[in-house]
Amino acid sequence: MLLPELRAEVCRLHAALPAHHLVAWTSGNISARDAATGLIAIKPSGLLYEDLLPENMVIVDADGQVVEGDLAPSSDTASHCYIYRALPQVGGIVHTHSRFATAFAALGRPIPCVLTAMADEFGGDIPCGGFALIGGEAIGQEVVRCLVGSHSPAVLMQNHGVFTIGPSARAAVQAAVMTEDVAATVWHAEQLGTPIPISPDHIAALHHRYTHVYGQHQESIA
Ligand SMILES: [Zn+2]
Repeated sequence: MLLPELRAEVCRLHAALPAHHLVAWTSGNISARDAATGLIAIKPSGLLYEDLLPENMVIVDADGQVVEGDLAPSSDTASHCYIYRALPQVGGIVHTHSRFATAFAALGRPIPCVLTAMADEFGGDIPCGGFALIGGEAIGQEVVRCLVGSHSPAVLMQNHGVFTIGPSARAAVQAAVMTEDVAATVWHAEQLGTPIPISPDHIAALHHRYTHVYGQHQESIA
């Protein structure tokens, strides 16, 4: 079996999505890219989270062709592969329809940077891409378009949901969890009034501190 460790990691990380209430039923998916071979491990289409096993992850090449696996890969595979081809630094991708973030996506609205936690993790607003049909590369193209020139490791897709990237699948999962957390807080703040923007200088200072100084010199997501 190819890439047993990557299969196990991608399978294990999938458990974080229902645990953090980011997905319902079979929606959502995670993929990771093996740095040495460029092959990608991704969730099979239509399986329940509790039925996922390392051996039923699907291994595809950079063009989305199945290299190893008995099941069809996620219907978002072509978009994941587009993102990997366009952005060599990306090692993992997560997609969810998490509720508060997707509520912003339903309006086609970016999530405004009104929390220090957003400045830390996202370095600004979480952008929102335009509408794109599921199945081909169109979502991936729109995600990449929004990521270029942004510090954010997360993009909303209009009418759809959330895509996050990271240097590893674990980092992309972290970004997905944090996206929903800040989306919920901003949504609640907007029920109380008009959230106060953080100045670009302060956003830059917070983001620099978080990505260069804070913690145990964690991987930079941007
Ligand atoms: Zn979706």
